[in-house]
Amino acid sequence: MLETLNPQPQDKILALIAMFREDKRTDKIDLGVGVYKDPTGLTPVMRAVKAAEQKIWADQTTKAYTGLAGEPAFSAAMIEMILGAGYEDRAAAISTPGGTGAIRQALELIRIANPKAKVWLSNPTWPNHPSIIKFLGMTSVEYRYFDVATSGIDFDGLMADLDGVAEGDAVLLHGCCHNPTGANLTSEQWDQVIALLQAKKAVPFVDLAYQGFGDGLEADAEATRKVVAAFPEVLLAASCSKNFGIYRERTGILVAITSADRKAVVQANLNFLNRQNYSFPPDHGARIVSTILEDAALTADWKAELEEVRLNMLGLRTQLAEELRRATNSDRFDFVADHRGMFSRLGLTEAQVTTLREDHGIYIVSDSRINIAGLNTKTVPVLAAAIAKVIS
Ligand code: PMP
Repeated sequence: MLETLNPQPQDKILALIAMFREDKRTDKIDLGVGVYKDPTGLTPVMRAVKAAEQKIWADQTTKAYTGLAGEPAFSAAMIEMILGAGYEDRAAAISTPGGTGAIRQALELIRIANPKAKVWLSNPTWPNHPSIIKFLGMTSVEYRYFDVATSGIDFDGLMADLDGVAEGDAVLLHGCCHNPTGANLTSEQWDQVIALLQAKKAVPFVDLAYQGFGDGLEADAEATRKVVAAFPEVLLAASCSKNFGIYRERTGILVAITSADRKAVVQANLNFLNRQNYSFPPDHGARIVSTILEDAALTADWKAELEEVRLNMLGLRTQLAEELRRATNSDRFDFVADHRGMFSRLGLTEAQVTTLREDHGIYIVSDSRINIAGLNTKTVPVLAAAIAKVIS
């Protein structure tokens, strides 16, 4: 049987990690993989996470199964953190293995509820979105998003494309910190998108993977809150990988906003999906998160450290924009300071990206997405000088 299998396409980012590992140069710089790194190049365990783990170790008396939906305390704390109070009656939720698990379960829910629904994706988007949709035999449609000329949003293109959304289609929106571009809608643009999708009777599907990495924990939830307030039904897939730094614990949540009288049926379907795919969801990461969010002191410490992380990336953005201005003697890269989150798409050609790697030991994804957090104050000028050289 297994002899019938064909090789799968190699993941671009994983291939880049392998190349970086094999590179013998000591001054090589990794701006590929999407994990936060502190100025010393480490992806630290956050202080509050360590403290929560200690507390769990001391207090936990059993490792017996939790519920199919995961721990209610985790769901309640996450819904409150993302949406604020007031959705208890309308929010069905399950814990999932990471944000990816939540996305997968959301797509399966869409497939059960409306097999004809198309899923609209920004062009570009996180490559796992289209690949999971294709794997599930569903149909995705792209809407314009990124304006290559300005490295900002192609808002006219976006609105024109979303005009083609049919009733019941799901429209995937990055709640904040768009991956891979770093370019985000303004508050006014969100209002216009919401009004259009309301008119189309679409189902918004928000992917929130970087809350706290852009303009702050509250500010980064603003667009999601607006969307949830504006529609009778919304799917929300959130990840705790980045903002709690618990990547390998695989912690995420799928929230389905529905009417109060449909909530029980929707919840039963979410539980069913967990049951079919992996039964009980992982608990350790979810328990870390609820332990932090239920304890005022741990929450305060976690927020303070998350803010350090955010401000570090913001500082690097400002510095990089300034260094690029100096090195290229142009304002071509000023957008780097306006982008938000861990990534920016620089608008370099694949050949220029290859030259950066081969001649300068700087590793970035072939679409010219850089991980800002892979930099530090010393490597920013090195990157700026190398970019100036490859574009000249
Ligand atoms: N959505 C987006 C846009 C992402 O960038 C990521 C992480 N790379 C995720 C979802 C999910 O991440 P995880 O499964 O690691 O929680």
